[in-house]
Amino acid sequence: MSARITLHCDRAARYAVCAARLQTDARTVAEAHATAERLGWLVRPDQTTYCPHHSGAARPRPPAVIQLHPSTTKETDP
Ligand SMILES: [Zn+2]
Repeated sequence: MSARITLHCDRAARYAVCAARLQTDARTVAEAHATAERLGWLVRPDQTTYCPHHSGAARPRPPAVIQLHPSTTKETDP
């Protein structure tokens, strides 16, 4: 038997809840929480979790594009 632990963002607005979720293959909730915190999620002592967008932490996001060869992408002047 296998199980997956999926964390949901507990941020609730007036008419909707945040749809962010994090699916993990953690074996325990504590392990899932530790993984989530590494990814920018906020885990409160009362076990509520918040996605990086709603965690309130000003963590820099990793760049969407990583330039590996910046010197070779420049066009040469004619
Ligand atoms: Zn959220």
